[in-house]
Amino acid sequence: MNIILLGAPGAGKGTQASRITETYGMPHISTGDIFRAHMKAETPVGIIAKSYIDKGQLVPDDITCEIVESRLAQDDCRKNGYMLDGFPRTIPQAEMLDGIEQIDAVINIDVDMSLLMDRLCGRRVCKSCGESYHVSRLNGSNTCEKCGGELFQRKDDNPETVSSRLQVYTAQTAPLIAYYTKKGLLINVQGGGTPDEVFVQVREKLDALNK
Ligand code: AMP
Repeated sequence: MNIILLGAPGAGKGTQASRITETYGMPHISTGDIFRAHMKAETPVGIIAKSYIDKGQLVPDDITCEIVESRLAQDDCRKNGYMLDGFPRTIPQAEMLDGIEQIDAVINIDVDMSLLMDRLCGRRVCKSCGESYHVSRLNGSNTCEKCGGELFQRKDDNPETVSSRLQVYTAQTAPLIAYYTKKGLLINVQGGGTPDEVFVQVREKLDALNK
């Protein structure tokens, strides 16, 4: 199955993507993670991406599409399909994907905008395994419960950048909901609950598709 996870920043795409990929055995392709790896390694792509990501803007479509195209060409995507997390984020990206791949389902995690600011500004991420936490549930701890790694706050999770990311989402990414609805691919899940509650819905819908 080739799956896209759609949702605003903070909707819980990364958390659900990890669960989906563990359960269904497919690679988790996160364009945000790919860009962060490039930034860490200070590659030419990383240097360009940083100038957009730090401002809460989208990396240009040509750079993003090239990265995704070459990732999808790798062997691990040709077995059980793949899970795209954070791609596409614009209509041109979706059109590029349509030209090269067949998508089976688009899961849209729907979360009230008022929740997102708090989720993102309070998010702490494990440096080792990428697990996300909310600061209010950590009781002052700075350690990942899953792997013991150190937690940190992403540089783009500050109030100013978050508000620009949410505006960018509304203007450029939200139109993809209508785009995939028209194609009959959209599956809506309510993302306001706990990760477990959201995953129950996701699993139900994906299992129904697999039958
Ligand atoms: P994420 O980890 O998915 O929140 O992505 C972090 C940042 O990476 C975003 O705010 C964008 O600046 C950039 N980014 C990730 N995916 C894309 C994409 N599909 N198109 C353009 N920029 C992206």
